[in-house]
Amino acid sequence: MLELKHVDTYYGNIQALRDVSLTVNDGEIVTLIGANGAGKSTTLMTICGINKARNGEIFWDGQPIHTLPPNTIVRLGISQVPEGRLIFPDLSVQENLDLGAFLRNDQAGIKQDVDYAFSLFPILAERRKQLGGTLSGGEQQMLAICRALMARPKLLLLDEPSLGLAPIIIRQIFDIIRKVNADGMTVFLVEQNANQALRIAHRGYVMETGSISMADQASVLLASPQIRAAYLGG
Ligand code: ATP
Repeated sequence: MLELKHVDTYYGNIQALRDVSLTVNDGEIVTLIGANGAGKSTTLMTICGINKARNGEIFWDGQPIHTLPPNTIVRLGISQVPEGRLIFPDLSVQENLDLGAFLRNDQAGIKQDVDYAFSLFPILAERRKQLGGTLSGGEQQMLAICRALMARPKLLLLDEPSLGLAPIIIRQIFDIIRKVNADGMTVFLVEQNANQALRIAHRGYVMETGSISMADQASVLLASPQIRAAYLGG
């Protein structure tokens, strides 16, 4: 479904990604784990076309997308939940969701998807009229995920959804990611929280200083002594 082939990405003269190749297949949860500054967010930005790959290729359903502008890539069905949640603080929960659907005009479908979002996170239904900025961190993350789902993407890109959240909220969010995937959504999950991410993923990639250093089934990575020592606290 998504394929990166030998991708290099730069910020000016600084190379942030080196020869990154990875795939995400239809129906999977694939996670990209790695330390702070490894290049995980840059990988997502490159897929979305915000930072262009200087070398290499990115294919979506067999079509090259690395030369396309970000808005075209969104229209092809790739939706990102950026790090730091970035909801609209002065708009209500409902208005944030409506904005997620701005490319659509199928009112019945939109209504159905709002209901689906509220079924995933009932607390958002209760807070439907509340301003986004007054929600807790966990609720804002829930809203950011739901807003991305409102575009009805084929692939959901998540950048560190667990960042700064309490363990109980993280568990709730990861349970929902698994549910959304079970309902048919393909997910590419970038996380520093390797333990939780590998527990819900089918496959995982490990990134170190801009390169992929390991790739395997998530269960294999979770059991690997090397991964346990480096990312899972032994
Ligand atoms: P984090 O978990 O902290 O977001 P990350 O794995 O997502 O880390 P990136 O944010 O992709 O890592 O950063 C990869 C490298 O690129 C780092 O060395 C970082 O300092 C550098 N970098 C990121 N953004 C920029 C930028 N706008 N300008 C210059 N260098 C950048």
